[in-house]
Amino acid sequence: MLSWFQGIKFRSQQKKWKNSEFYADLNHRAAKLNEYPVLYKAVFMKNFEAINTAGIALEEAFKVALDAENGMRINSEINGITVGLSSGTSGNRGVFLASEKERAQWVGAVLDRVIGLKLKKRKVAFFLRANSELYESVNSSLLQFDFYNIHDELEVQVERLNALNPDILVAQPSVLLRIAEGVNMGKCKIKPSKIISVAEVLEPIDERFLERVFDLDIDQVYQCTEGFLAFTCNKGNLHLNEYSLIIEKRYIDLEKKRFHPIITDLERVSQPIIRYELNDILIEGECTCGSVFTCLEQIEGRADDTLCFENQEGRKVYIYPDIFRRRIIKNCEWVHEYQLVQTGERELEYAIKAENGSSLISEQFKKEIAQLLEERGLVDIELEEVKYLDPKPGDKLRRIRNTNYEKA
Ligand SMILES: [Zn+2]
Repeated sequence: MLSWFQGIKFRSQQKKWKNSEFYADLNHRAAKLNEYPVLYKAVFMKNFEAINTAGIALEEAFKVALDAENGMRINSEINGITVGLSSGTSGNRGVFLASEKERAQWVGAVLDRVIGLKLKKRKVAFFLRANSELYESVNSSLLQFDFYNIHDELEVQVERLNALNPDILVAQPSVLLRIAEGVNMGKCKIKPSKIISVAEVLEPIDERFLERVFDLDIDQVYQCTEGFLAFTCNKGNLHLNEYSLIIEKRYIDLEKKRFHPIITDLERVSQPIIRYELNDILIEGECTCGSVFTCLEQIEGRADDTLCFENQEGRKVYIYPDIFRRRIIKNCEWVHEYQLVQTGERELEYAIKAENGSSLISEQFKKEIAQLLEERGLVDIELEEVKYLDPKPGDKLRRIRNTNYEKA
């Protein structure tokens, strides 16, 4: 069911999407939302050129985005349209488009919904995946922006941060964690009064760590290349951004709590996002803040982070990353960092970084994982320890992954 507001915005979008060849008929006859097909990434990408209204070909978009990612060009723009790579691994990558206006709208939305207004002029350190001149125009009389490229060296960033001493810090969790470690080591001396975690999922364990280091509640904006999905309210809970998106829910469990969102973007025109099903798993929650937008207890990450094994009866058993996460937080407090990767139908690799790294800790970790698997009826999964590797700067933080899913 659309709210009256969403209904009006959807009708207005249909007119703006008229250059989209893929949706020409549906847009022309002002079809209802449920007459549009639900698209998954593969189909969406296959029809990339017919869907976007900017006349950009898929091959060109990929090339520009990859070259920018590898530092071979300074920006990832084609005729003023920015091309973004969506997370996903090699076989499952996507490209997304946003015009300058749409990108500025995003920054504006973050400001409106999360930063709030204060009369004192404040300095904002804003970390982005790539440099873009357009953001310089966002400076206002009350906010002074300083933009950082997340691919730059940490030392350079820390030096700039110390010189700026920002009031507000906006960055991905992986970047926030590295800055927090810098603070712990006494290298980074900033004392922001507001921190906004953007883009990736902020795991509860990291949230607590950041809160401890900075002595602040961390605000969250959950954004993926496909859209600005959710943000935190004044009670600290996440709510879906049903102001700029229509979000339909495809439940994946019997209790109807976990779902994949199917999003329709009510602002983007360069690349119509209509009934696009995301791989993220969202969990519904409750909030007393009075917002009409759906509250989320948590965002679990992508379906390719869900581990899947066959039990002895040949039935598939799915284990959500959250299940492992909670177990590890609860029973393995001496593990500083870990990675858990399903590499084959029956193979699971793990790596740990412990405060006092010893084989005993590794054994205990292994035992805990094996026990969890056993409780799910999985008895002969191979568990192998590999060397822990720190994520590279700019990499997303994904502790639990299923590369077997990615291969499939
Ligand atoms: Zn709330």
